[in-house]
Amino acid sequence: MARTRRPLIAGNWKMNGLQADGIALAKAVAEGVRQAAWADREVLVCPPSTLVLAVAAAVRGSGLLVGGQNCHAKASGAHTGDVSAEMLRDAGASHVIVGHSERRADCGETDAIVRAKAEAAWRAGLTPIVCIGETLDEREAGRTLAVLEGQLTGSVPGGATADRLVVAYEPVWAIGTGKTPTTPEVAVAHAHIRKVLGGIMEGATSVRLLYGGSMKGSNAAELLAAGDVDGGLVGGASLKADEFLAIAKAA
Ligand code: PEP
Repeated sequence: MARTRRPLIAGNWKMNGLQADGIALAKAVAEGVRQAAWADREVLVCPPSTLVLAVAAAVRGSGLLVGGQNCHAKASGAHTGDVSAEMLRDAGASHVIVGHSERRADCGETDAIVRAKAEAAWRAGLTPIVCIGETLDEREAGRTLAVLEGQLTGSVPGGATADRLVVAYEPVWAIGTGKTPTTPEVAVAHAHIRKVLGGIMEGATSVRLLYGGSMKGSNAAELLAAGDVDGGLVGGASLKADEFLAIAKAA
């Protein structure tokens, strides 16, 4: 089967950004993307939900994509404080992150909840970026691959296709810590993820698998060169336009 895995560099701004600085950041990234005119990679920013509409408007026409960081499984209703996938789509999003480890930990999101959110993304016409990753305890217990397998089979809905799914491998202990796995360790994890996907969906060889966890301009090329890595999910380093664009350039 032909490989059609165009690298995707996605920025997760987390709970950062007021209107002025968020829009300035988005415009700076958009300008870099517009100038580079990359046909061979995609660049996405996921601002907090308060900024999705304004950021999407500010970057329109640049080629920079915009996504949400989370969505509710339902399209609408009595869910105070939540945002639906349809609302994100309406605001200009093309993607939504689901199952980030911070939401799994802070909000008790289970694999079943993440799966329902991924289905909601499809219902709204968004591409979910399904996040999985082991904790330090799980890693030290030698359970990394088993944990990834369990999260994947629990979080990826039936009927997945490569053009409607992105998976991000984010070791929890690497997020925001400055620590990263070695390139061979990333390659082993990604190869396993692709193998497991092969057992649960058609076209697994074409699904984009992102690495996330303390990626920055100085280590991006090495991490992105690991086998089966098709891009990155970038937290802290996505808050600086130059740093984020350096990662996109490395892809
Ligand atoms: C993330 O939050 O998805 C992430 C990868 O964060 P950081 O790049 O800051 O480790």
